[in-house]
Order: sequence, then C-alpha cells, then structure tokens
Amino acid sequence: MVYSMIEDLSLEQFLAHFPSEKTCADYLLQCKWPNGFVCPRCGHRHAYQTSTRRLPLFECAHCRHQTSLTVGTVMEGTHTPLRKWFTAFFLVSQTSNGINALQLSRIIEVTYKTAWLLLHKIRQAMSESVDSVLLSGFIHVNAACYGRPYNPTLQKHPKEHPLLVGASMNAEDEPVYVKMKQLPHAPLQQKYVPRAWTEAFTRHHVEPDPSHVEFVTERFKSPKLKKLISIFVETNRWINSTFHGLGGRHLQGYLNEFCYRFKSKKAEHSYL
Ligand SMILES: [Zn+2]
Repeated sequence: MVYSMIEDLSLEQFLAHFPSEKTCADYLLQCKWPNGFVCPRCGHRHAYQTSTRRLPLFECAHCRHQTSLTVGTVMEGTHTPLRKWFTAFFLVSQTSNGINALQLSRIIEVTYKTAWLLLHKIRQAMSESVDSVLLSGFIHVNAACYGRPYNPTLQKHPKEHPLLVGASMNAEDEPVYVKMKQLPHAPLQQKYVPRAWTEAFTRHHVEPDPSHVEFVTERFKSPKLKKLISIFVETNRWINSTFHGLGGRHLQGYLNEFCYRFKSKKAEHSYL
C-alpha cells in the first residue's frame, strides 16, 4: 500500500511529498486509517495518542489495545527513521536493476548492516506478493541451475543451486508470470530433477486445475523451453551485476525479487 504510490513518483515529486519524518508518518496514518482511527482489536473509533515516542502510539479508548503506524508493515519494530525507509522503497522501485546494500547504505546514510536488513525486509514483502499468485492456464517449467557450470559429472557441486523456472504463458507463447524456485539442499545425482520435487513445485506454485503443464526436467541439456531459459539467463546477469553473485542461503529471496520485477514490468503496476 505504501509502496505502490511511491513507485510512481519522480525524484522531484518524491522529495516534495516527503520532506520530513512527519510527512512520512502522516502518509502512513492516511494509508492505515483513511477514515480515522479504528481499533484493530475491537473496532472502536477513538484512541489516545502518545507522542512522546519517535513514532506516535495509539491506545484504544475502549479496550486499551496499543498499536502503531508500522504494525503489519515491513517497518514494524524498526529503529530506522521512516524517511530512510521511504527512500529505500523509492530507490528499489526506480531502476530495473534494483539496488544493493552498499549503494543504499551510502545514499541513505545508514550502516551496511541496516541497509542490508531494509532490503531483506523489502524483498520478503516482494516474495510474499509473488507467492500469493499461483501459475495458471498454459504452464511451462524448465530445470535450471544457478552457479558456475560444473558439469563434468552429475554429482551436484556445492556452488551449484538447481532450481525450477516456471511460467504462465499467454496465447502468443510469451511468459506473463514467472516463478523460480530453488530445489532442496539434497544430493542430486540423477540426470533428471526427481519427480517428488516437480510434484512439490506443482503443489505449491500451480493452481489446482491448469489447462496444460509441461515440465522439462533433464539437467545439462540444451534447453527445450528457450524462453524460460532466457529469463533465467537474465536473472543470472542481474544477480551477478547488481549483487556480485550470491551463495545459496539467500538466493531464493533474490529470485523472488526478479519475479516480482518481471510481473511489475508486465502489469505496469505493483503488488508490493
Ligand atoms: Zn479497542
């Protein structure tokens, strides 16, 4: 909710809209309660506001439940000023490449660790958005692998991260919605992605009754579903140029960010 409006602003507009911490808090207040306070627990319409804290705290006049403007958002419990968060939302949305933690830490003047955490939380919100939509209709899924191509044997190398790239295809055979999912950290010695894993992908990421699903599960083979593989090649390039490569631990979040951006580009608006 906060982000979709920020994503559409130019830099000048962003600076004019959010010159201070208070303007950011006012904006959150307007998003959260457009028609005035509503207690999330009992629905009462009146609250006492405590302004001694950095962010106002609202205490329901009826049931005494306390709530703040950031509850239920990626900013919940944060010590980082709202304006720095808003600037991070703006920067993440502005380029097709996103931004890395080092760049963000310099621009909004926070530590690298804080910048990393902000981006991590924003990426979690993007992941939830991506996971809330299932692939549907005409679906293609192809095996792929992130990491250096260690190919002499079928034995999985520690720096290889096998995954499945799936997409809903439109009538022109173009992918319109993409999901990339890492496969379990388990020995993978077969020539094909095991059936149990493709079944798990279907269970979690495909609608119950799609019109068509085609899996290409053979690894180390010239790709049959070339459009999916070209999306994956683009993902690799993006991860390696913006984030200078990744290990397996956080890879899934970055894959989700890519899928989120892919969707946003297609849909012209955002679901973050
Ligand atoms: Zn209440």
